[in-house]
Amino acid sequence: MNYVSTRGGMTPQPFSDILLEGLAPDGGLAVPQALPKLTAAQLEAWRGLSYADLAFEVLSLFITDIPADDLRRLTHAAYTARIFGSEDIVPLRPLDGKLSLLGLSEGPTLAFKDMAMQFLGQAFEYVLAKRGTTLNILGATSGDTGSAAEYALRGKKGISVFMLSPHGRMSAFQRAQMYSLQDANIHNIAVRGVFDDCQDIVKALAGDLEFKAACHLGAVNSINWGRIAAQIVYYVHGWLRATTQAGEQVSFAVPSGNFGNILAGHIARRMGLPIRRLVLATNENNVLEEFFRTGIYRPRSAQQTHATSSPSMDISRASNFERFIFDLVGADGARVKALWSQLAADGYFDLSGHLGEFADKYGFVAGASSHADRLATIRATYDACGVLIDPHTADGVKVARAFVEPGIPMLVLETALPAKFSETIEAALGRPAPPPAALAGLESLPQRVQVMDNDVEAVRRYVREHAAL
Ligand SMILES: *Cc1c(COP(=O)(O)O)cnc(C)c1O
Repeated sequence: MNYVSTRGGMTPQPFSDILLEGLAPDGGLAVPQALPKLTAAQLEAWRGLSYADLAFEVLSLFITDIPADDLRRLTHAAYTARIFGSEDIVPLRPLDGKLSLLGLSEGPTLAFKDMAMQFLGQAFEYVLAKRGTTLNILGATSGDTGSAAEYALRGKKGISVFMLSPHGRMSAFQRAQMYSLQDANIHNIAVRGVFDDCQDIVKALAGDLEFKAACHLGAVNSINWGRIAAQIVYYVHGWLRATTQAGEQVSFAVPSGNFGNILAGHIARRMGLPIRRLVLATNENNVLEEFFRTGIYRPRSAQQTHATSSPSMDISRASNFERFIFDLVGADGARVKALWSQLAADGYFDLSGHLGEFADKYGFVAGASSHADRLATIRATYDACGVLIDPHTADGVKVARAFVEPGIPMLVLETALPAKFSETIEAALGRPAPPPAALAGLESLPQRVQVMDNDVEAVRRYVREHAAL
């Protein structure tokens, strides 16, 4: 299995090579040269497997340059009951007769990013050791991604993490989650500025190619194919748990931002997993809902992006979307390249000629949810089902309800636990979400963080002095 670029300008490369890179050299994203197919017999044979064994089976279709025994060891190290709280790893919980929740948030940071990041942590350490090299992850976070990366990479050999966050602007819980890590390879840097300042510093340092090479800088952003591949596993797992025999269809509803989570569902469907609908849910930042309604993709500027009560879906552009467009235009790299040039020039592109294919050929339907919908859904789900859901999952539940079909299970992906967004739970129910038992006392642990001015040079010095080389 080799990987090519969505813009057609990369010689085919194996998984281990694209794992450590960000964008392809031509500015596109890595995609499999040919998709593996799942047969009904294969799926039936997987019914009894543990999550770690299922992850091995699915990932081995995409990762052919790591020996099978080693890959199995990596999936077993990533998906343990100790890390994910139960043998299930991803529990399936019925909400009512129509919807179920697929629990992707049982990992250490209470959000679905742990699912992919825990595998990525293992894969990074393995590939770096094989190559006898090191990697320094430099990133900016306002919450979920940074903490998932730190928990996945803490204590890993050959890797250090430098994570910039806006000083004084994260919730007490988020700060405690990140800054309480005492591992020597984890460096939390709180910048006296806002999230965009943090991101600008990362861009400045990663864009300095000499510095980047000298310090072995890398990233773990949402376009990493390793993350997408690891996410395909829970669609297969969800299907296996919600069905009893070959060919039965299931729909999935996915709270979406960067299009990473639902892209994995799209790939699973194209591989032959019997998925009826992929229900894309957005919040007020409805760039993707608009695309699936009109065929026009029009990313927004940072100023036009609303700060909402489902903040992890507050995106202006969907960084993984290019991989779906690549499929939509028949894997024509030149066409994708032209579309993204048009995007840069005109601020949008129009694929309304493909409108008829979105649902019929690809199973995609979409809807948007608002702050009021979110609160009402949290309240109604608690009152009717006795289950507390987080604001992002609430967007998924709200939009999913419109697309329920008789006889077809609708699985809503639970992308975070309510304790992480307690302020909104309080707004909905009049009281905060109870913290998970395992994290009681988190906020009183000692914290380890470097507070720095909003100054590229100060961060550069710090990284140079502390990088793993
Ligand atoms: C990242 C995130 C999302 C959005 O997922 P994408 O892959 O960016 O579409 C939704 N909910 C939560 C809680 C998240 O952390």
